[in-house]
Amino acid sequence: MVNKKKERTLLNARSNEFQIMNEVQRAKFVLTTLDKIYPNIKVPLKSRNVFTLLISVLLSAQCTDVNVNNVTKKIYTKYYKPEHFVKLGRKKIEKLIKKIGIFRIKAKSIYNLSKILINNHNGKVPKTFEELEKLPGVGHKTASVVMSQGFGYPAFAIDTHIHRLAQRWGLSSGKNVVQTEKDLKRLFPKKKWNKLHLQIIYYGREYCKARDCYGLTCKICSSCYPNRKKPVITLKA
Ligand code: SF4
Repeated sequence: MVNKKKERTLLNARSNEFQIMNEVQRAKFVLTTLDKIYPNIKVPLKSRNVFTLLISVLLSAQCTDVNVNNVTKKIYTKYYKPEHFVKLGRKKIEKLIKKIGIFRIKAKSIYNLSKILINNHNGKVPKTFEELEKLPGVGHKTASVVMSQGFGYPAFAIDTHIHRLAQRWGLSSGKNVVQTEKDLKRLFPKKKWNKLHLQIIYYGREYCKARDCYGLTCKICSSCYPNRKKPVITLKA
């Protein structure tokens, strides 16, 4: 009788072990789950061409997409080319975007990058990471969003949501955003990157918020980590 009880305990422990997914299985599970929740996904920032997309992404740093859309919907009806912003000048751009955080710095970047686009790129947004990242106010994250949403090039922009979720799902150590990007690109097929980037952001905003959950409540973590008992503390981006 005692032996049978021991045997059962051992079997339970084993089956728990088997339930634990490895990194690749977790990635597949995340992909399938997000595809079910968000089969079609909309780009959250509104724009009317690649140039205005670039401006919107630049404006969205430390600011919500809703706020950016509210401000830009009045701007883009009239101003939507680099020439328009150069003509406006810095002070007028500041006035137009003053409801957005760090608007003076952003106005300066918009004005200067518009001039560079006219002088060096025939008024067009360049199609390479290298050239984009040389523009004022444009870092790797902004360039990645423009490359994927503007030109359809596979990219994986890592924002604060993606950095946090990748850690909670055990897909990255969260050492830094560069590492998170490498890890996610290694784990997910290239053709999924652009959609997945948006799906993770939506899931992070809707369910997996920074202070609302620590890896213990919803289906993703409870399936990937059935034995998880302690909250997961994530590193910031
Ligand atoms: S359990 Fe919490 S941390 Fe894990 S995916 Fe769900 S909401 Fe996010």
